[in-house]
Amino acid sequence: MAKNNQVFDNVLDLIGNTPLIKLNKITAPLKGEYHAKVESFNPGNSAKDRIALYIIEQAEKHGILKPGDTIIETTSGNTGFSIAMVSIIKGYDCILAVSSKSSPDKIDMLKTMGAKVYVCPAHVSSDDPRSYYEVAKRLHEETKGSVYINQYFNELNIEAHYHSTGPEIWNQTEGKITHLVACSGTGGTISGTAKYLKEQNPNIKVIGVDAYGSVIKKYHETREFDEKEIYPYRIEGLGKNLIPTATDFDQIDEFVKVTDEESAHTAREIAKTEGLFVGYTSGAAMQAVKQLNEAGEFDENSKVVILFPDHGSRYMSKIYSDKWMEEQGFFDSENKVEAQGIQY
Ligand code: PMP
Repeated sequence: MAKNNQVFDNVLDLIGNTPLIKLNKITAPLKGEYHAKVESFNPGNSAKDRIALYIIEQAEKHGILKPGDTIIETTSGNTGFSIAMVSIIKGYDCILAVSSKSSPDKIDMLKTMGAKVYVCPAHVSSDDPRSYYEVAKRLHEETKGSVYINQYFNELNIEAHYHSTGPEIWNQTEGKITHLVACSGTGGTISGTAKYLKEQNPNIKVIGVDAYGSVIKKYHETREFDEKEIYPYRIEGLGKNLIPTATDFDQIDEFVKVTDEESAHTAREIAKTEGLFVGYTSGAAMQAVKQLNEAGEFDENSKVVILFPDHGSRYMSKIYSDKWMEEQGFFDSENKVEAQGIQY
């Protein structure tokens, strides 16, 4: 494998080793030094490439998968795309059971990447045989030589980041990192990265980002599942209405909640100030950093790493659409993209 001169055997060799990029302008009013771990530099444009490759390679190592077998998951998002990509290169069938709420664009994207997509009704409960959870479980039981990734309840999700994202950040900061700020969905990214970093230096503070409408922050504080915390919100990939076992709550020092509206505007601000076109949860993570700074969390010696999970291109019809922003009541004329369009 000749990795010098940027020559690779296949696209999977490009997974991981993402850059750490200094944030210069958006952080000017904040105390300390800030770097973003920009996961859109993975070939599938998100951090989920890491878990897709790691979990599939572990299954190969344990003799569960051989070429021609099947990989199953229940997502129309980043994880689905990454699994489809890994499946193409390694010669597996990829089945994704998704909710009928998923946008046609997303479903087309997964089909383009060779996945067989089962579109399951969104309005049924999770234990209904037609739900995407049940469809995936059934297909897994019926398909010999299949692996169900089940990212929310798969501890290999944590391990993937323990073996890659954690060591990368430690080396890139030459061990000087003082704070890690990362969104928590399955919790795999923050838990695995934190575990590695805290083994090197237990004083590193790890702060998780959660959504209003999610149970995660309250569970971290009380270890109780409080249904009252759950209500609809717009950010995808952040927070949850259940407690994932892929979150190691003991590795996380505290959680900060962010709003849909501020996270959307902050994502737009990252693009305009740093030239980094990132996704909605990158805006959420940056928004959390601003709130933490306000609360006095950082000083001049802080060396903060903020995890930016994916690329902005997946949100063109959401946070980067003025129409969508307007429909959500997030409209703000200064940040309107259209305002910059010049008509000839
Ligand atoms: N941001 C985005 C866009 C995601 O898709 C996810 C994964 N659900 C996350 C953040 C959170 O990552 P994790 O699942 O590792 O907690």
